Amino acid sequence: MKKGIHPEYMDCTVTCACGETFKTRSNKEAISVEVCSKCHPFYTGQQRGAARKGNVDKFYKKYGIDKKEA
Ligand SMILES: [Zn+2]
Repeated sequence: MKKGIHPEYMDCTVTCACGETFKTRSNKEAISVEVCSKCHPFYTGQQRGAARKGNVDKFYKKYGIDKKEA
């Protein structure tokens, strides 16, 4: 195996947009990701719930305005 042409693997800290960090091995010291196993909707369902809540709020807001104008 030639020296200098293979990436050097080292401990890598992966930082997620949700604030979660975990260690892995990579040829980089740090990696930033947008989703991880802690915050991905598939695992948490949080994002789906938040979207539902947002739609409900939008509905009430619209209903309130309509009621005021009527
Ligand atoms: Zn995350």
